[in-house]
Amino acid sequence: MRVGGRAEWLLEPANPEELVRAWNAARELGITPRILGGGANLVIEDGVLEGVVIATSRLRYILRPAAGEDPSGEWTRTPESLQHTPPPADDRRLVAWCGATIPGLVRAATELGWSGLEGLAGVPGQIGGATAMNAGGRWGDFWDVVESVRVLDCDSGVVRDLPRAECRPSYRDGGMRGFVVLGTVVRLAPGAKHEVQARVSEYLQTKRRVQPVTEWSAGCIFKNPDPSKSGGRSAGKLVEDCGGKQLSRGDAVVSSLHGNFIVNRGHASAADVFTLIEDLRDLVREKSGVDLSVEVKVWRSSDR
Ligand SMILES: Cc1cc2nc3c(=O)[nH]c(=O)nc-3n(C[C@H](O)[C@H](O)[C@H](O)COP(=O)(O)OP(=O)(O)OC[C@H]3O[C@@H](n4cnc5c(N)ncnc54)[C@H](O)[C@@H]3O)c2cc1C
Repeated sequence: MRVGGRAEWLLEPANPEELVRAWNAARELGITPRILGGGANLVIEDGVLEGVVIATSRLRYILRPAAGEDPSGEWTRTPESLQHTPPPADDRRLVAWCGATIPGLVRAATELGWSGLEGLAGVPGQIGGATAMNAGGRWGDFWDVVESVRVLDCDSGVVRDLPRAECRPSYRDGGMRGFVVLGTVVRLAPGAKHEVQARVSEYLQTKRRVQPVTEWSAGCIFKNPDPSKSGGRSAGKLVEDCGGKQLSRGDAVVSSLHGNFIVNRGHASAADVFTLIEDLRDLVREKSGVDLSVEVKVWRSSDR
């Protein structure tokens, strides 16, 4: 969303092993780092954010498990080395390191003609963020295709592979509290390439029509409320019905396309965004009685 200040420390590990070492080194100094993916669902306060931020953007490989290989094995190979060990055609798994982008994984699956990720078309960010947030929408959620997740246990500093059955993902929450996602194995379904491509194009077109995808935003600000309390209305519809689309604070404005998006017109501060979020919550509570809860993640120095 291009608001907020600077990190006191920013570490950019080049592979999962470096991330683990960086995490454990910070913990030995008594610091719990924050993990930054693509920043597509995040608002960071103005000024200097104290502590350590570990950015995952260099951990961007997408691999196919080699013939007979358990993808929970070492993930240190590069795509180049895989050219010599072609995987079996019926193994439709992809291993995505946490910094692989969501559009990159959707593209890889589409090129292979594999189905299951089309619903993520047009969602920005990285696989670590998609796993932690259970990114998705009306055409499905990321966790629908997750087979296992390689995580770093935040307290013990130990790396583990969590099978799907051990995880409890829910709406916009991958249930990854207490873990750093190092990478995710997805299992996709056979499909016809032209059909997968057609679905991706259709969903992208729809998203471009209804969301401000080319503007600076952090995605949906609020979670959709329980339909029984909101009369079936989404958070965006509630904001719109309550007159919230007219609200702004500085350069932070509610999108005219979608009531659940705040966009930065150019010079908004994080403080503008935080104030506008509270204004919208107050307005919706007052006019409809619904208490909206915030989906977007907020980072402040005082949280640590
Ligand atoms: C235009 C636009 C459209 C969007 N549309 C959608 C949509 O349709 N559906 C949807 O669900 N979302 C949508 N989003 C929100 C966003 O794309 C998703 O939430 C995405 O999964 C965020 O990924 P990220 O890597 O950017 O995460 P970040 O914003 O970097 O981080 C989000 C949270 O995940 C944590 N996190 C990140 N990486 C890791 C990791 N490796 N391990 C543990 N925790 C981690 C962070 O600490 C933070 O708490 C949209 C955003 C924009 C800007």
